[in-house]
Amino acid sequence: MTEKQVGIKAKAIDMDGIWHWEGKKIPLLGNHLPVPEKVRLDMDPERQEVLAIVDAADWMEGGKCVCGAKAEGIILVTEYTKLFPAHCCEQMVWMTDERDYNEIYEA
Ligand SMILES: [Zn+2]
Repeated sequence: MTEKQVGIKAKAIDMDGIWHWEGKKIPLLGNHLPVPEKVRLDMDPERQEVLAIVDAADWMEGGKCVCGAKAEGIILVTEYTKLFPAHCCEQMVWMTDERDYNEIYEA
């Protein structure tokens, strides 16, 4: 996949987790997503496999997108990160689970 050069737009990912690119349909489940550096924690890999696809309405707080619209569509779940390709506002909404490394540093 050469998505790094072309960039993935939110609307190019459909409600089934299929990425539409130059007439091709690429299922993202089981594929690797390039995760932007700013959303990754230090130890997370740059490319992360999509392990599951879940309903956005179930996962977004209050069933809403960050723009305030009803969250519709899917969330791509990797081991470390979730991606909600929001069609309502055409944003890629990345969510990274907070992990606490304090115990490691305090040991
Ligand atoms: Zn939105």
